[in-house]
Amino acid sequence: MKITFLGTAAIGYPLTFCNCTNCQLAREKKGKSIRKRASILINDDLIIDLGPDTQTAMTMYDKDMGKIKYLLQTHIHADHFDAGLLTTRIPYMAIQNHPLLEIYAHPECLKIMSDRVNHYENADLISDEGSSKLNVKSKSVNAGDSFQVGHYKVKAIDCVHDTKHGSLLYVISENDKNVFYATDTPALTEKALEELKDYHLDLVIMDHSFGKVDYSFSHLNEKLFIEQLEKMRSLGIIDDKTLIYGTHISHDGLSYHELIEEEAVSHGYHMAYDGLEIDL
Ligand SMILES: [Zn+2]
Ligand SMILES: [Zn+2]
Ligand SMILES: [Zn+2]
Repeated sequence: MKITFLGTAAIGYPLTFCNCTNCQLAREKKGKSIRKRASILINDDLIIDLGPDTQTAMTMYDKDMGKIKYLLQTHIHADHFDAGLLTTRIPYMAIQNHPLLEIYAHPECLKIMSDRVNHYENADLISDEGSSKLNVKSKSVNAGDSFQVGHYKVKAIDCVHDTKHGSLLYVISENDKNVFYATDTPALTEKALEELKDYHLDLVIMDHSFGKVDYSFSHLNEKLFIEQLEKMRSLGIIDDKTLIYGTHISHDGLSYHELIEEEAVSHGYHMAYDGLEIDL
């Protein structure tokens, strides 16, 4: 299984309009310190989160949006979902030779995604008529559900990042390898740990929005990130063989890439960067 990080930022790094020291340093250093909004590609056909930078990232990393068959959407926040990308599937845009796109999301999230696309192009993601126009097939999934996505096995994991509009984390499995994509999220719930407990994870990609700043709701800072690893380790969900990467990086307490990578390595994990590819 090949994982490509299309974006590793929370909202964007440097943050729009921000002139803090971290944003200024990122603008000077460029390279791995410039981050697009968070999204990953698995092999060449499964994408997690269709965000505002996804199309740009796919082109930058020589990937082909025309090969995408599966979308797992974590939640509806603007840094993770751009309805404009799905509206390009409408026939009058002259789209050609594209495979059916299967979309999976929490029921509330799927409804909002569908309403947004419908608002622009009068074609929704749920009805037979809208789905056929857009060549999509949508399925709502709930925490704890295990389901087949093409040849991948996927499990939706409980998440309380956006309880109003629905949010999910996902474990994706292929050829006995298990990847846990866990952003955006605050501390993992008991339910999430229960849902994870039968897995041995080969790769964990988890919310590390903040550094050494005081934070305890809707995202993880460094302290909370390490605490979640300890919980998963004590349950045997991860071990020394598990690769661990922080993502969804914000300017709040997290500086340029090389510095935060050094700090992460001292705690036994890594910080992801845009364009990073991992082969499992
Ligand atoms: Zn986010
Ligand atoms: Zn800043
Ligand atoms: Zn969010």
